[in-house]
Amino acid sequence: MIEIKDLHKSYKMGSNSLHVLKGINFNVQEGELVSIMGSSGSGKSTLLNILGMLDEADEGSYILDNVQIKNLNEKIAARYRNEFLGFIFQSFNLITYKNAIDNVALPLYYQGVKRKLREEKALHYLEKVGLADWAGHLPNELSGGQKQRVAIARALASDPKVLLADEPTGALDTKTSYEVMELIQGINDEGKTILIVTHEPDIAQMTKRIVNLKDGLITDDSLVEQVRAEAYV
Ligand code: ADP
Ligand code: MG
Repeated sequence: MIEIKDLHKSYKMGSNSLHVLKGINFNVQEGELVSIMGSSGSGKSTLLNILGMLDEADEGSYILDNVQIKNLNEKIAARYRNEFLGFIFQSFNLITYKNAIDNVALPLYYQGVKRKLREEKALHYLEKVGLADWAGHLPNELSGGQKQRVAIARALASDPKVLLADEPTGALDTKTSYEVMELIQGINDEGKTILIVTHEPDIAQMTKRIVNLKDGLITDDSLVEQVRAEAYV
């Protein structure tokens, strides 16, 4: 689903340049649930933004669902982004003056989906995240966990091939974080490919594979040992 080869990215700052990604290689298969771990400033968001076609690498190749992502014009890039990718952010990024269902329906509006179908789909995804009863509420009437659920429903609304989440639990308390991660695990169980950036080891442990990023390179890439439920009986 995702193939990354020798990816480099630097930020220019005046006459200086900060080399953030120094040759990243990794692949993600359809249906994986992967976390990208690393301390603050290690380049996690930079990498996720490139994967999300919000930014471009300086060097290296990126293939998403068999499409080479390079030098695409903005219109085509925007179409792929809408079709292929769903985004979840630490700060939810909901529109404050729109209620839950309208927030979820917004990507469908941009895709030209007719209003009735938009509302049906939005309600379906709100049900999926357990918030059907909150459809008419504004973001400021929702808890942090509920806001993130709305944001997850919004990311799912256009049925993207890949979900990209940048510190999705970063603004939530521990219990709510685990609940949001359980929701994400459930979505992955249904086959969705999901990448999560986090600096929290316990959150990474709730994914199936942890990719460690340090000083611009991947230092470790391993499967999470699936703890069998019987062990606790
Ligand atoms: P992380 O998400 O792991 O905390 P980032 O990818 O956000 O790390 O940032 C990696 C490094 O790149 C940091 O040192 C950060 O200050 C720098 N950086 C990020 N975005 C920019 C930018 N747009 N311009 C200049 N430097 C940036
Ligand atoms: Mg970041």
